[in-house]
Amino acid sequence: MTPLFEILSRRIAAAGPLSLAEYMAEALGHPRHGYYATRDPLGAAGDFVTAPEISQMFGELLGLWCAACWDRLGRPDPVLLAELGPGRGTLMADALRAARVMPGFLGALRLHLVETSPVLRAAQAAALESVAAAGPELAAPPSWHATAAELPDGPLLLLANEFFDALPVRQFQRTPVGWRERRIGWDADIGGLRWVLAAAPDPAAALIDPTLDSAPVGAIAEVGLAGRVLAAELGRRIAAEGGAALIIDYGYAAPGTGDTFQAVRRHRFADPLAAPGEADLTAHVDFAALAAVARQAGAVPHGPLPQGEFLRRLGIAERAAMLRARAVPGRSAAIDTALDRLTDPDQMGTLFKVLALAAPTMGAPPGF
Ligand code: SAH
Repeated sequence: MTPLFEILSRRIAAAGPLSLAEYMAEALGHPRHGYYATRDPLGAAGDFVTAPEISQMFGELLGLWCAACWDRLGRPDPVLLAELGPGRGTLMADALRAARVMPGFLGALRLHLVETSPVLRAAQAAALESVAAAGPELAAPPSWHATAAELPDGPLLLLANEFFDALPVRQFQRTPVGWRERRIGWDADIGGLRWVLAAAPDPAAALIDPTLDSAPVGAIAEVGLAGRVLAAELGRRIAAEGGAALIIDYGYAAPGTGDTFQAVRRHRFADPLAAPGEADLTAHVDFAALAAVARQAGAVPHGPLPQGEFLRRLGIAERAAMLRARAVPGRSAAIDTALDRLTDPDQMGTLFKVLALAAPTMGAPPGF
């Protein structure tokens, strides 16, 4: 039994079954035993690999995207460059190295990283120090925040790669009498967690897209309230103060049904209720819902585009050719493999999508 098992079983005994969102929030975010509080989950020795860890090309192209947006926004100085869930800091380090080509950009930007994990904050600081040591200094050292609500005011460029998938979702199942929440209860017979269906309706079911009401009995719909609140807040900020945000994740572009809640441990899918705190838990991102709330808040959503298409439009094939030409003998095959992983429809090219939220005055950001 993991320590969180104990905590959750006591909580269920006292207050009844948990929503999936409550379960995800504890399993990922518990300050002592949560998945992200206790480890660096990334890379070959961890549980999963992300795009910036596959190739430097990913962060470089996003850095150039930020620099081009800054130019289109009229070169505000200062400008916030923020990242949500920066992992090991690899994306931001590659982005800053590439963005040096835009004169004045590095001097104007103030770096803000939103990260809860102490382990990953340390990795991010080390990655950024190595960039600073190699080139022109940033005007100010980076700041860390626990939530995006702590970001200071001002024009904002924001990146979020594989962040929204970690935000809690609730699940509802279609029954003959409407949507009922799938909750997580305690099964004394097996001494473990199990799914239970709530008997009474819940007002949060009103957040399910009405077109899904014709789904067959048994169909599952997901509602990510935390993601929607965050996208609305980003939309409001960007409309009021200028800026652009790029949200990259696996997810779906149109409202749909399906159970996308999953656990990954050591690069394999695992039972998401088996060992809370020990596996990465995610749900696919509902891009249509994020775009809708950001639009209501005053920003203009662009996309979502498939990741492969977006990276090709930003010039990933040309960047790969440059790296290949300079590669030491034997390294160019690895560049091609990375290019395929990031862009191929059978790999990350289609499942991963890119949504931009932009200030109404800015027009379409690069790639859209
Ligand atoms: N963007 C990185 C890491 C993705 S993993 C990459 O592409 O490699 C998810 C990241 O989000 C981790 O850095 C994790 O610690 C952070 N994170 C997850 N949930 C969070 C939350 N609720 N608040 C702040 N950071 C969070």
